[in-house]
Amino acid sequence: KRLVILGGGESGVGTAILGKKKGYDVFVSDFGKIKENYREVLILNEIAWEDEQHTEALILNADVVMKSPGIPDKAPIVKKLVAKNIPVISEIEFACQFTEAITIGITGSNGKTTTTMLTYHLLKQGGLNVGLGGNIGKSFAWQVADDAYDYYVLELSSFQLDGIVHYKPHVAILTNISPDHLDRYEYDYQNYINSKFRITMNQTEADYLIYDADDEASNEWLKKNTVKAQLIPFSVSKMIENGAFLKDNTMEININNEEFLIETDQIALEGKHNMKNAMAATTVAQLMKIRKQTIRESLSNFQGVEHRLEKVLKIQNVQYINDSKATNVNAAFFALDSMTTPTVWIVGGVDKGNDYSELMPLVREKVKAIICLGIDNKKIIEAFGNVVDLMVEVDNMHDAVNTAKHMTEKGDTVLLSPACASFDLFENYEDRGNQFKREVKNL
Ligand code: ADP
Repeated sequence: KRLVILGGGESGVGTAILGKKKGYDVFVSDFGKIKENYREVLILNEIAWEDEQHTEALILNADVVMKSPGIPDKAPIVKKLVAKNIPVISEIEFACQFTEAITIGITGSNGKTTTTMLTYHLLKQGGLNVGLGGNIGKSFAWQVADDAYDYYVLELSSFQLDGIVHYKPHVAILTNISPDHLDRYEYDYQNYINSKFRITMNQTEADYLIYDADDEASNEWLKKNTVKAQLIPFSVSKMIENGAFLKDNTMEININNEEFLIETDQIALEGKHNMKNAMAATTVAQLMKIRKQTIRESLSNFQGVEHRLEKVLKIQNVQYINDSKATNVNAAFFALDSMTTPTVWIVGGVDKGNDYSELMPLVREKVKAIICLGIDNKKIIEAFGNVVDLMVEVDNMHDAVNTAKHMTEKGDTVLLSPACASFDLFENYEDRGNQFKREVKNL
């Protein structure tokens, strides 16, 4: 059978290795340039490839096509494949046929990476032979080719879920849903919501779906649709009988009469959103029967993930926090929500159709000054101009950090949580976060 792979990045090359091992006639095609290290792997493994072009004659004769998640459905080559009824699937779909391993699939608009890393940490500390894949780390398919693990924790974007047919996680986590990536969903929020719920479509009664019972879009969808998996909700606002919730300062998880309690100050992650992430991850650990003492220790020694509410430095009693990964309003909401001292907020970048109104009460309560860091700050100025006394526009990170410094006094916080994409002034969110950290260290 001929396997054609569109995209020669981590997931593409991983799929190529697995396909080759399983006896497929493999061809990798990338419209951009394939990185040197991946080219070397392809050559070493005698896998045919091309880059900076898509040769239709070599692609449209495929039996099956693996499309990397970055390539949109509206790309001409994808449209041609669909018109010819050639199945176009994702890496996860291709790889799952070749492993018996148990997978934990994690999706949602925000909190995927944090929850994935924490779940992986809990299971690994618990002694399971577990791998990490999907959107992070090494390609899932590549690890399946190496027959590396008995369990996998997979971070799954909606794009990856769009390309599944049979894949079913034994445990699925849907962290939350808020509008994002709508340009890839015909600007219809419902399409995006449906895409997220594909994570459960192949699950059976023996499987689990862990979800946020405080999340409006998830609740609405669950009211209208049936799910075969056992539902395990979590909430920071109400008591949950079979699931997880916060009561005063205790996180409580009850699953099938098995109880786990931990004080929130014993959990290294901070902020309400991170309590949600911790509840979801701990629920998985409990389902996997990890020892309670191990869960406790792992929750208290997990140091979080770079660029997500990352504490950078305290200078003259001012705390600097890097939340560059907050590329949408919902993520910035939870960052502001977790601020405990007067905050100078660095915000802005490429607007994704943002509606700032839900941030208004938090900004009133917590923000003493706003620094707009973007090429076009009009919407931010319109939204908050009358709410915050001090507002400054800058167009580089050096000025943002140095201006922020002058606006602070002892005990304040400087928070970079942009609520926007980074591509106007930076390469990506990592570059934005790294520049922030560099400027803070230079202060
Ligand atoms: P994702 O992988 O889904 O983008 P991350 O864990 O990388 O999620 O976090 C992205 C941003 O969202 C960060 O700014 C982080 O602080 C914030 N965040 C993390 N968890 C949640 C959550 N459960 N709800 C809302 N925002 C969150």
